[in-house]
Amino acid sequence: MIEVDLEEEKKEIIRRYRRLLRHAKPVLKDGDAKIIKKAFYMSMEAHKDMRRKSGEPYIFHPLEVAQICVSEIGLGTTSIVCALLHDVVEDTEIELSEIERAYGKKVATIIDGLTKISGVFDQGSSQQAENFRKMLFTLSDDVRVILIKLADRLHNMRTLESMPRDKQLKIANETIYLYAPLAHRLGLYAIKSELEDLYLKYTEEDSYTHIASKINATRDARNKFIRNFIKPIRDELNGQHFTCEIKGRPKSIHSIHNKMRKQNVPFEEVYDLFAIRIIIDTELENEKAACWQVYSIVTDYYQPNPDRLRDWISIPKANGYESLHTTVMSGKGQWVEVQIRTRRMDEIAEKGYAAHWKYKESKNGDADKGLEMWIGKVREILEQNDTSAIEFVDDFRSNLFQEEVFTFTPKGDLVTLPNGATALDFAFDIHTEVGAHCLGAKVNQKLVPLNYKLKNGDQIEILTSKKQRPNEDWLKYVVTSKAKSKIKDSLKEEKKQFAAEGKEVVQRKLKQLKVPFSQETLIQLTEFFNVKTPTDLFYLIGKGKIDHSEIKRFNEKKEQEHKYRRVSDPKAMQSKIKKVREDDYDLLLIGEDMDVVDYKFAKCCNPIPGDDVFGFVTVNDGIKIHRTTCPNAAELLSNYGYRVVKAKWTSSQDDSFLAGLKIIGTDRIGLINDVSSVISGELKVNMRSITINTEGGIFEGEIELYVSDTEHVDQLIRNLEKVQGVVSVSRHT
Ligand code: MN
Repeated sequence: MIEVDLEEEKKEIIRRYRRLLRHAKPVLKDGDAKIIKKAFYMSMEAHKDMRRKSGEPYIFHPLEVAQICVSEIGLGTTSIVCALLHDVVEDTEIELSEIERAYGKKVATIIDGLTKISGVFDQGSSQQAENFRKMLFTLSDDVRVILIKLADRLHNMRTLESMPRDKQLKIANETIYLYAPLAHRLGLYAIKSELEDLYLKYTEEDSYTHIASKINATRDARNKFIRNFIKPIRDELNGQHFTCEIKGRPKSIHSIHNKMRKQNVPFEEVYDLFAIRIIIDTELENEKAACWQVYSIVTDYYQPNPDRLRDWISIPKANGYESLHTTVMSGKGQWVEVQIRTRRMDEIAEKGYAAHWKYKESKNGDADKGLEMWIGKVREILEQNDTSAIEFVDDFRSNLFQEEVFTFTPKGDLVTLPNGATALDFAFDIHTEVGAHCLGAKVNQKLVPLNYKLKNGDQIEILTSKKQRPNEDWLKYVVTSKAKSKIKDSLKEEKKQFAAEGKEVVQRKLKQLKVPFSQETLIQLTEFFNVKTPTDLFYLIGKGKIDHSEIKRFNEKKEQEHKYRRVSDPKAMQSKIKKVREDDYDLLLIGEDMDVVDYKFAKCCNPIPGDDVFGFVTVNDGIKIHRTTCPNAAELLSNYGYRVVKAKWTSSQDDSFLAGLKIIGTDRIGLINDVSSVISGELKVNMRSITINTEGGIFEGEIELYVSDTEHVDQLIRNLEKVQGVVSVSRHT
């Protein structure tokens, strides 16, 4: 037991609350402090009996999350209130309606969004992927939901120490999988790096401590190097009356770790361990010129590598990042990255989206537009509802990591697309109709094919034709999800049309041949043409890929077969489908019809004699016997009723059939032994496999064994239930 000094704790809570107010002060308007106070006391009261895993009072967590929102993301009053209350609806008695009454609709909506996504995201679990999808839905309502969620996550990662190991791994993994990329995409570089470092700390502790101690150990030498490197630049900048700050910062542990692994080198050989950053104070109108002036000074002293010049000032990254990067050769023969930016740009780089609000009034409409465009893209992906949640998250992640290519319309408007995008992507980005009728494109006046990969600065004119239509190949030409989904939509629509035309042709042809247009004929047709479904057949005929005269050939063959069977094998004269389908008394007799009808037992439910079963006519694999309780039965019976065949067991069975049993009980020594002796001893049953799980005194076993019929299984179940400690025994599929 840890002694808790409640008085001291109360003081600490108030101290943290005051710190929050102090940091928030510059952005507070009249009356804001009062609202924050109200939210703080409400949250403290609601969480008063709760403690975190670490033993701390729970209120520390919402206070810290609010603190991160203020000082690390730069958010204001609404977000502070939401952060303070972010866990109350989920974890306490307080209801959303109460929040709405006290703080208004906006706060309630944000907290509702935060509550909905509170579940932990499990990599590979579709339920959690679905949660994530919901979370991104709220992005289009209010981006603050995501920002507060990131603050919440950051604090949880900072306090991960007190969690059990399995939770640590789970939380760390979902952080690296989703939250760090999300922070990156929103331009929150500081938070992104910290999340990545913490991930490494909890998943690869050795590497983390190794790199951290190396960074420490080399600090003095590095600082000396940086001082010498900076000196001439600083003198020159001062001489030219620049007000500036120059710092040399080591890169994040996570990024150094990645470099070591990627290049397979030790710490000492990672050459860009740090970057020099020059931050200048300058008028907004002067920013660009000033940055290039600084560039010019830097490269007067050090030789730049022309391949490593990055100008994100003229065209900012889509997440709003603006900076001028160059890599130069130091006097010591070492490449050094130099980042040049203004105070404003630096703040945006560190605090991301929120910092834009501060500068929103200014000329900087562009970066803001970039973020809005991105949110628009996310919304577009969300609106395609035919992708599964898992696919969606993957898709979304790949969009997060993509670098961009900047292209232009003939009129000079900027179109930003993911790297690897083609002329066809560009066409769909302009407009769905332009994409759907795209014939080709002219890039910088030269004709290029649809799958031409766009390069930075390309100016693209799309050529269209009314007659042009999307085809299957187009899916290979595009990378954006917008283009993909539009092409798929169009193909589906086209398929529907051709199938309708094809169906008419088939009906007409069959009528001429005096063959009934029945399910039976359709099954025979799909078999003859070797296609999966009648719709596929209609489509191929409608599209002209199967000539309709082929139907005549089908009929000839059918009649011939009929004659042949009648002569050569009177017993098998009835076709297998007729035999098992036509009337109620025409059953498939399992055991007897073996030599006439080709049937197998379905692996999904392992039927054994005595089970209620049905036969299902497959396309290429004869008839499969399923249990009526098979997990697939509902789908088969409801969608393909015409392919279902009645089936019954005959009395004589000497085969062994595989069945699975599930045993649940309370664990005790000797239980497994008793269970297996019932199976192999008393009843002389062969076991194929046995898996046992015991947790918290509960015993769960799954046994696969060979039996002759259901009577046999029932007897076995009865005997097993008699074993001491066994609670239930059931058959499972
Ligand atoms: Mn929380």
